[in-house]
Amino acid sequence: MSAHFDLSIDEMKAYGYKIVDLIAEHWANLEDKKPVTSATRKEMDSIFLQEAPDKGMPPNEVLEFVMENVIPYSNVTSHPKFYSFVPGPSNYISTMADSLATGFNIFSGGWIVSPAAAELEIVTMNWLLKMFNFPVKAGGGIFTSGGSMANLTALVTARRIKCGDDFSKAVIYLSDQAHSSNIKAIRVLGFKKEQIRILPTDIEFRISINKLKNAIAKDRLEGLQPFCFIASAGTTNTGTVDPLDDIADICEAENMWFHIDGAYGGAAILSDKGARALRGIERADSLTVDPHKWFYQPYEIGCLLVKDSSWLSNTFSEKPEYLRDIEGNESEINFYDYGVQLTRRFRALKFYMSIKTYGLEAFKEAVTYNIQLADDVEDMLRKSRNWEIISPATLAVINFRYNPIGLNLSEEEIDSLNQEISRRVMESKEALLVTTILNKQVVLRMCLINPKTTIDHIRDTFLLCNKFAEEILAAKSK
Ligand SMILES: *Cc1c(COP(=O)(O)O)cnc(C)c1O
Repeated sequence: MSAHFDLSIDEMKAYGYKIVDLIAEHWANLEDKKPVTSATRKEMDSIFLQEAPDKGMPPNEVLEFVMENVIPYSNVTSHPKFYSFVPGPSNYISTMADSLATGFNIFSGGWIVSPAAAELEIVTMNWLLKMFNFPVKAGGGIFTSGGSMANLTALVTARRIKCGDDFSKAVIYLSDQAHSSNIKAIRVLGFKKEQIRILPTDIEFRISINKLKNAIAKDRLEGLQPFCFIASAGTTNTGTVDPLDDIADICEAENMWFHIDGAYGGAAILSDKGARALRGIERADSLTVDPHKWFYQPYEIGCLLVKDSSWLSNTFSEKPEYLRDIEGNESEINFYDYGVQLTRRFRALKFYMSIKTYGLEAFKEAVTYNIQLADDVEDMLRKSRNWEIISPATLAVINFRYNPIGLNLSEEEIDSLNQEISRRVMESKEALLVTTILNKQVVLRMCLINPKTTIDHIRDTFLLCNKFAEEILAAKSK
């Protein structure tokens, strides 16, 4: 390789075709792979740890090494049996769109540099605004790296608009089921512990409106400034949607910012059932959604929507001299004015190309299918003597545990049994199924947002779980 990083055109093509072949084969043969892999730091070090090499080597050799040693040591989050955390089903068109965006190295910061990139972000943002019944004209938004960054961007904006420079008396509220990224964001923002109220949820994991009202009233009496509530739609644990309309009423009455974290559940708006569950979502001041989850996009793409786009520009716009020449007119948006990043990759392209190619109808069908699949799993488990539903199917999430009728196991025994089932499933590498804790119980959780997952995949996995459970119980009774 020359010092100028150049390959000949034929070398570039051959190298690129090889990579496309590998990716396409991966997509076509997903089912033949195991979703789970694991490795220790020691094992990884033994393969990779070395000083940066002074001399290079042929590109194909590096690629082969990567295909042999890097790719296999990643869980396959788009596998139909990857049930836990939040799967990353992705889609092929967007995968290629990302290659285009990177291949042409398109700068998605300012209008003048890439007017089409800015325009596509405006257009796709309009699609999203409309989807969530936000005002398309006044509203706006920005693509971010993910939901965490969207939540952070929202909370910076909320604080700026509601508190200005002095936030010493500001108080922010969220439930104990809110996603950890919100607490991280609050910490990044420099709030003290005394300024954060984490409120308990009811037996269905919703924020208790009574407790929220009490907390706000007490804080007012102390001379503090309740300025923001973070609702979940839905929670990552159980898919639960907070009572959005009630919260919106409170925020209006109290002059508080209403942020909704819909990173997990927002996309459910595309189905009728999901839209009913999300009623009131249009009343938020700001809304996080996460296209790299249930809008089937590859990592990374998150999104923040706001009711009034000037809130973002009033919060993030800074004008250094060297950017003077690229200031356009008002309608030509520089997305570096809407968030933290100046240099930004072209995230809108994959969202745009996948919706143009498949049509919104395909996305609606997929989301509807996912929600129905979780309902079907619930039905199946309710009819089983071995399994107990702990949190019913909600926005494609379901929590359950192995607790056979007639065995009269203690809570401790049930916890350790389910923990052990999960451990053995993971060890088999056949499915990714881990536990979470609900009401102090160890439960298994499925998040069924992959349209490739069928009820047969799930039946397979339950057969495996039943087999392990029987083995564990048999070993114990010896
Ligand atoms: C996943 C998730 C986040 C964080 O999003 P990232 O894209 O992982 O940064 C935030 N909130 C909720 C509810 C989530 O499910």
